[in-house]
Amino acid sequence: MHLPDFEEMRTRMVSSQLANRGIRDQRVIDAMAKVPRELFVPESYRDLAYADRPLPIAAEQTISQPHVVAYMIEALAIEKQAKVLEVGAGSGYAAAVLSKLAGEVFAIERIDELAQHAASNLQAGGYMTVHVKHGDGTLGWPEHAPYDAILVSAAASTVPEALKMQLKTGGKMVVPVGSRISIQQLIRITRLDETGFAEEELAAVRFVPLISDEK
Ligand code: SAH
Repeated sequence: MHLPDFEEMRTRMVSSQLANRGIRDQRVIDAMAKVPRELFVPESYRDLAYADRPLPIAAEQTISQPHVVAYMIEALAIEKQAKVLEVGAGSGYAAAVLSKLAGEVFAIERIDELAQHAASNLQAGGYMTVHVKHGDGTLGWPEHAPYDAILVSAAASTVPEALKMQLKTGGKMVVPVGSRISIQQLIRITRLDETGFAEEELAAVRFVPLISDEK
């Protein structure tokens, strides 16, 4: 039986899609070079695990394209001991990459089936510093707050206030904002102090919607 050489595919992805396309942070590049993306994609898509595109996972959701994952994580400037929150764990892939850079990762997923997949993928890969919870991530995960960094992996119509309040001073959140799939901007929010936040527009993006159970 022919087995694809995933390690070779991963090395090629890192050089052609990341290093050659503007990802500069060596720690992010190293993290992406270590995490076996094939562990996180459905069996029928394994051959495409390192393709330059998003891939379907269960429940009509998607695992983002590798460059987008690297770009968002680079924008968070994560330090070694950082405590990180991810909203929209999906397959668990981005959380696995985050865990290579941070101290501890808390990941929330609103679709139970996916939360279970993410948890078992992460366990199978030995990612012991990632904790997955099923729930509405627009409320954050207050028990472990405040966070040094928050990655929102689904598009919000407005930035959830609870997430801003769970950032440390100096902490950063990266979040796609926009109600329609055709007009989303990736925003970086930095908490300046108790009430002050700085906002920067980073890039135009396309994400599945962040769905709040509140409304
Ligand atoms: N980061 C994931 C891909 C995420 S796709 C990976 O690496 O595989 C976006 C995910 O956000 C979907 O799984 C979707 O169910 C989830 N999502 C949408 N709204 C949410 C919410 N309010 N709280 C938590 N997860 C949410």
